Amino acid sequence: MAGGFWGRILDVDLTTAKITVEEKDEQFFRAYGGGPGVGLYYLLHDVPAGTDPLGPGNVMVFAAGLLTGTVAPSVPRYTVCSLSPLTGALGKAEAGGWWGAELKMAGFDAVVVRGKAAKPVYLWIHDGVAEIRDAGQVWGKDTGETAAALKGGVGDERARVAMIGPAGEQMVRFANIVNELVHFNGRNGLGAVMGSKNLKAIAVRGTGRVAAADPEEVKALARWVAEAAKENALSKLLHIQGTPATVGSSDAAGGLPTRNWSTGSFEHAKEIGGDKLTDEYLSGTGTCFACPIRCKRAIKGGGRLAVDAKFGGPEYETIAALGSNCGVGDMDVVCKANELCNRLGMDTISTGSVIALAMQCTEVGIIGAADTGGKELRFGDGEAVLAWIGKIARREGFGDVLAEGVRAAAKRLGKAAERYTVEVKGQDAPMHDPRIKAGVGLQYALSPMGADHWFAQHDPFFAPGHPVSVATGQPLGILEGVAAGDLGGEKVRVVYYTSMLNSLFDALGVCYFGFAPRSVTPLAKMIAFVQAVTGWDTNLWEMLKVGERINAMAREFNCRLGLGTDDDVLPAKFFEPLQSGPNKGKATIDPVTFQQAVDCYYEMAGWPGGRPANGKLYELGLGWLARQ
Ligand code: SF4
Repeated sequence: MAGGFWGRILDVDLTTAKITVEEKDEQFFRAYGGGPGVGLYYLLHDVPAGTDPLGPGNVMVFAAGLLTGTVAPSVPRYTVCSLSPLTGALGKAEAGGWWGAELKMAGFDAVVVRGKAAKPVYLWIHDGVAEIRDAGQVWGKDTGETAAALKGGVGDERARVAMIGPAGEQMVRFANIVNELVHFNGRNGLGAVMGSKNLKAIAVRGTGRVAAADPEEVKALARWVAEAAKENALSKLLHIQGTPATVGSSDAAGGLPTRNWSTGSFEHAKEIGGDKLTDEYLSGTGTCFACPIRCKRAIKGGGRLAVDAKFGGPEYETIAALGSNCGVGDMDVVCKANELCNRLGMDTISTGSVIALAMQCTEVGIIGAADTGGKELRFGDGEAVLAWIGKIARREGFGDVLAEGVRAAAKRLGKAAERYTVEVKGQDAPMHDPRIKAGVGLQYALSPMGADHWFAQHDPFFAPGHPVSVATGQPLGILEGVAAGDLGGEKVRVVYYTSMLNSLFDALGVCYFGFAPRSVTPLAKMIAFVQAVTGWDTNLWEMLKVGERINAMAREFNCRLGLGTDDDVLPAKFFEPLQSGPNKGKATIDPVTFQQAVDCYYEMAGWPGGRPANGKLYELGLGWLARQ
């Protein structure tokens, strides 16, 4: 008996208020997995070129991972896919927490949302039933108020709510989707798509069990992971310090984005580092469904800025984006900024990036006090960061310009401002500098979602001598390490294989912080989980093909929208010399070498001219996408 999926996809048309259930067979899930595989299947069928991302024709797919909802550890994730209002390309973002598992326990693998409701609504899904309900009472409310009101409204405190805040309602182009106040489908502005549909939230509750073909084997594997996680160095570090542990190492390497990427070392790095957060702010650790690692940061709250602890503590990306990249070396401010973004429903990376851009535009004289309401927006001004988060969410004054994201905001300010943007396809770069991790640059350029740090694995894990590179690399056929700064064919191979792997992770619902190369569960155990849950006689080869299939689908989706090789570029900043750290003064990415690497990736992927060849599509079982 196959387990892990129900074969039931909820289809909700908000325009007509019609709700149907589409049945999908085992072959569908074996080919596409879950998450982005399911999402892209629907986008490729139902979202043609010319669709307005914020119009009723756009489609959203909320799809749980194939293993999500089982007791497999660290597999809580679900994906939201849509056409992105930030990039005009594929919008895709994963989140952990409990929502994805709850959806599965409610009897559905995915939810497809179409059209636009005439007035604010939310969707209530519980044990095989779905209904559209009035959301008038929570429209305009922040995420904390909304979660509390909707749990009360459905009469079940254990309901899980994925929702937007005021920023999503205002269609801020980097508004996110928030679940349980501390988990996020962060990037690509998918909260704005919900806002455009008058969809405030999707509340789910399920009391069913997701079947496994061999439940005893799943439990035995889960016990193995729980024990191994206690000893694994990477898992332990994630548990003790979470992602903020990397603030110090990024700074030491000269790769901590500081003052809108002007430099990579921050004189106040210690004040916003992992030790500081752990020693002075932490109240405990948080977790996701069935995860023994507990990497989430729970903080005490309070303090001089009255931080509300229920919105959680900041991750590395948040610390760098709203801290060092804005020149702010004050952990109180970072924690408050984190709370405000989570409360209002905005991606912390994009919020910090667009504020940092405005600060740099002030510094070089492109904008002044007259543009920003009478007070200049300067690097290091923590109070201004907090104030502008609210103005962006409400699209107040100049906040309305910044709410369009870095590319559109800079365009509005003129060509001089465009020189200071650090983005790909309109999405600002995450807080990882490709000049010290060259493969990350390749993934920024090639990710279908614009600059994204999870399109493939990061270089240090596959560098020579790294113990993890051997353990993870050998099953992938990567037998020798490749230096972090290398951009030759061997590095492209690492990026290519791990871009398949990461898409497979997303399809299964796997959290990157629970599995190799970043953490405890090796790839062989991952495949054992797939076998035990689904009952399939499968292997790593077949599963990696799921990841490769998803990447080809994403690429084809963007090509149909008109994107091509000209969009697979890096911002000029990354071809300039690093300003600090051990590699100071060296231009670590050479433009010619970089272009050769991009071309090499196309060749490996079977994408001549940047588009999947018909033969490749057939090889992946995607003949339905082949061009006549
Ligand atoms: S490792 Fe962290 S983010 Fe991943 S599932 Fe566990 S608690 Fe959640």
